[in-house]
Formats: sequence, structure tokens, C-alpha cells
Amino acid sequence: MLYSEIASTLKKIEDTTKRLEMTDHLVELLKRTDREIMDIVVYLIQGKIAPDFEGIELGIAEKSLLKALHMASGIPYDEIEELYIRHGDVGIVAEDVMKRKKQMSLFSEDLTVERVYSTFREIAHKEGKGTQDLRMKMLANLFHDAKPLEARYLSRMAVSRLRLGIADMTLLDALSIAFGDKSERERVERAYNIFPDMGRIAKVLAEKGMDGLDEIRITVGVPIRAMLAERLRSLPEIIEKMGGKAAFEYKYDGIRIQAHISDDVRLFSRHLEDMTEQFPDVAEALRSAFRGKEAIVEGETVPVDINTGEMLPFQVVSHRRGRKYGLKEAVEDYPVVMFLFDVLYLDGKDLTLMPYLKRRDALREAFDVSDRVKISEVLITGDPKAAEEFFNEAIDGGCEGVMAKSISEDSIYRAGARGFLWIKYKKDYRSEMSDTVDLVPVGAFMGRGRRAGKYGALLMAAYNPDRDMFETVCKLGSGFTDEDLENLPKIFEPDVLKERHARVDSKMEPDVWFVPNHVLEVLGAEISLSPNHTCGYGQIKEGAGLAIRFPRFTGNWREDRGPEDATTTHEIVRMYEMQKKVE
Ligand code: AMP
Repeated sequence: MLYSEIASTLKKIEDTTKRLEMTDHLVELLKRTDREIMDIVVYLIQGKIAPDFEGIELGIAEKSLLKALHMASGIPYDEIEELYIRHGDVGIVAEDVMKRKKQMSLFSEDLTVERVYSTFREIAHKEGKGTQDLRMKMLANLFHDAKPLEARYLSRMAVSRLRLGIADMTLLDALSIAFGDKSERERVERAYNIFPDMGRIAKVLAEKGMDGLDEIRITVGVPIRAMLAERLRSLPEIIEKMGGKAAFEYKYDGIRIQAHISDDVRLFSRHLEDMTEQFPDVAEALRSAFRGKEAIVEGETVPVDINTGEMLPFQVVSHRRGRKYGLKEAVEDYPVVMFLFDVLYLDGKDLTLMPYLKRRDALREAFDVSDRVKISEVLITGDPKAAEEFFNEAIDGGCEGVMAKSISEDSIYRAGARGFLWIKYKKDYRSEMSDTVDLVPVGAFMGRGRRAGKYGALLMAAYNPDRDMFETVCKLGSGFTDEDLENLPKIFEPDVLKERHARVDSKMEPDVWFVPNHVLEVLGAEISLSPNHTCGYGQIKEGAGLAIRFPRFTGNWREDRGPEDATTTHEIVRMYEMQKKVE
């Protein structure tokens, strides 16, 4: 098949904005395509050489592309570069260049689909130093034989800009029309949702028709498209929608990971990108926590402070990507916990069509929980009050809210779909802090990891003048220099107590208690309700105090202040209320 057929279809698609017309053009092309190369044609239409999850990048820099055009056409590089600066679209530049091509070649061959595909694959697989030149020459070879319109699409594909608005959904429409009829669209989509490789689906359809789809199965190593949640505004509404009762899970605020566990482990993002390299610790922890042979599970990966045990904002994980440090240091300094919430495949069995409660049981049985692998917290209830309490606990634990999940018989895992089987609820009970506060250390927790033998975190309190008590408001573990950490036990030595000081009100039990004596300046990110802290307990809400989330020591020891000069409980309550109004 000639590449010009693909190019002219792409042109027709580019020239229309109507989805139905796009579909027609695609159907026409698919019908004309030999089944042997159906997968290749489908990849090329999408400007790809493989499904996204394989992570194969063409990675051709724009400069190299312009050079290849220069080589193939004989037109001076500067001129081509100027054209590019003027148009900003490599496609238009390539087309223009080919129209003006000076090197009239006698040995021009028509470009076939197979040749285009195999050249691009070869380019993608050439890695390492000194290959840039080689890749450029391979590309120049293609351009040498390309007609202007072909050059337009080849060049856009080379720099990964072949975005013509051919959404997956349009292709699925086209596939079901070309190989069956529209009523079978759902079947095609289900296959794609559990095996998101459009080329493979197209080929199976071309070779075996609709029934061929039965052989498309969930496969360890091939990511499944994620199930997504709807949103409702109140817990009673959610319970009603769920038929009177639902499972509420903590909604962790991290990064969703779909883990494919066999002898080795591969981790995929919600967008099906391979993230295994970023999270070698998660892969290892999952492998050792898993009791079976093979599984596909989903969970949320959340960074934690190993010293306070508290969850951290998920942005902390971005240190893994930045590679500012080596990955090894990032893994050590920014540990994460994987909270598993679903299992889609287990030792040869597809569980996606099983109801939620069965999947949940299977998940629980399949893993030994550990420090690094846990199962999401859950409460099954039909009582809005109980759900609300659970929600407060979730917020206090550092979560975004709760995820309600249907427990009905038809509560399957709907791959790739957003629906009411899962409903998220994240009403914002948190408010941002803009000012620092002065807090009093009333105890300390011993450190872990690098802080073993030292204090890992201090239990901090605000002062309540009405009761003449110190009420706890956070655990403080960030912002200390190595020197501070070294010195903390010495500084607090004269204040250490075995038991809680009579003027301290705390629900937490630190490893050592202090006489309230020092004052430290602290900057937090937000104030939230918390049943674990006593600051302003019961003032905003029954059964809850206030907590400062993500607190950091500013480095300022307020030696000028006595503990009774610390920020008061009232001030913190006021800050919470005021910030709620600003929102
Ligand atoms: P949102 O991103 O706000 O649409 O919320 C959906 C996301 O919440 C999912 O994609 C997961 O990444 C995340 N999540 C956190 N905890 C859970 C849970 N227990 N069950 C399902 N999803 C969860």
C-alpha cells in the first residue's frame, strides 16, 4: 500500500471539522487496507509506531528534521530554517520544501506504508551517542522519495505533532463500522479499554471480524484504561444514588498507579505511561507483599514523612522526576506508600466483571500489608452521619476526601469509563494559611531512617489562655537543618518529662514529653479539622479540633517569647474561619 493513500486521507480529515465526515474517511481507508498491514496503517494514521504504553518515542528534534529536509532537497539550510520560523509548522515547511525541491532525482521510488513504518521504527530504536546523524540521514532518505503532501505528514509525525484531532473514540467508531456495524461499537470499545492497542484491535477485526475480539483479553503488562469517578455534592445524595448504602474509601491525594505484577513488576500511570523507573521501591514492595503469581492492581501512591508518619502533598513525588538528586537519593528521601484500592486480574482470572465487594475481598487476601503497601481504608454504611465522620477522619489523615463505591451486584470495574459506580466527594474543609504561627513544643517522637537516635518530629501546641493549657495542633518534622536535628535533644534535655505535663492537652502520645518552654516559628500550608488534635476542640465541629497541615520550621527560635506568648487557640480558630470566608 502506498503512503500517499494515508497522506490523502489525513488531508481530507484535516480539511473537515465534522466528526461524521472524519469517520467516513477513516472507514473508507480501513476498507481499502490489506489485513496484513492493518495495524501499521492504524498506527500511522495516529502518527504513532506503537501503542503509547510501549513508550517508544521517535524523539526527532526539530533541527534534525530541518537538516534532513535540507539534505533531501538541496535547498540551503538557512532558507529552510527561515521558513520554519515564519510558519512554525514543520508540516507546511516540509511540503513547501518538497515543492521547490532542487535535486531532481532520477531514482525516486514511491513510498510504501511498510517502508515508512519500518524506517520510523528503526529510527526510534537507534539510541545513544552519534546516532542523531544516522537518524537524520534515514529521515532524509524518506523525504528524498516523498511527495509534498506526504512530506507534510511524515515531518509532523517525526516530531510527534501529528495531532489531527483523530480521537480514539472516532477511530473506534470507524473500526466498528468498517468491520461490523455501529451497534457493535460497545464491544469494540470494551476490547480497547482492556487492551488499549488500536493497531492490535484493528488487525484482529480485519482478520477475524467481531468475534475475533473474544481473544482480546486482559494481559499482564498491557495497561487497562482506568475507571473514573463522577462527583456529587453531598453525602446523603451519594448514598441515595448508590441505592441506600455504599462503600466509602479514603480518597488519597497522590498518584494513581496500575501495577502489573508477575516475575517482574511494571507500573503504569493513569494515562498508561510506564512509570516503573520512577518507582523502583513501589515495584519491589508490591512484589514482596503479593502472595500470588500474577496480578493487576490499582492504588494511589502517596509520599509520606517517615518521621511524622503523615502524608505529604503529592507534589513531593515530583522530586522523583526532577532527578535533581540521583533517583536513589530521591527514593530514600521521599518515601511513598502504595494504598491499593482495586484488583483487576489475579492468577489467570479477569476480575473486572466481578462486583466490588468480591474484588475487595480478593485484594485483601492477595496481599500482606506492610509499611509500604497498604489497602485503602473503607467503611460500608448507609448512614450519612457515619459517612461524614469517616470523611473527617480521611481529611485529617491527609486525604482529599472520600470515594464512594457502589456495592451492588453490577458494580464491575468499568475500564475507561466515568460513571456513578464510583462517586468522589471532596468538599473542601481546608483553608490556606498565609501567616506564620508561633508554637510550643510539648513532646517529641523519635526519628527513623536518617534521623534514627534523634528526634524525628516535635509535637507542637498553641496556647489557650482561657484554660491556661497548651493544645496540640501539629507534628513538626520539616524545616530543620542537620545541625538543628543534631542539637534538638540537647536543647530540650532540661525540659524532658516522662509523663505529660499537666498544662498540656493532647490526644497523641509522643515518645518523650516536654515542659512547655520554647517557642518556634512555623509556617503551615493550611488548617484542617482533625479529631487527633486538641486545638480548639469542639469549637468548629463536635469531635474535632484543628490541625496545621504540612508545617515547616522557619528556622526562627522565638527566644524573645515565653510559651504564653505563643499563638493562641482562638487565633487559630479565627484563621480557620477567616480563610474559609476568603475562598
Ligand atoms: P479525581 O482525580 O479527582 O477525578 O479523582 C479520581 C482519582 O482519585 C483516581 O484516579 C485516583 O487517582 C484517586 N483515588 C484516591 N483514592 C482512591 C480510592 N480509594 N479509590 C479510587 N480512586 C482513588
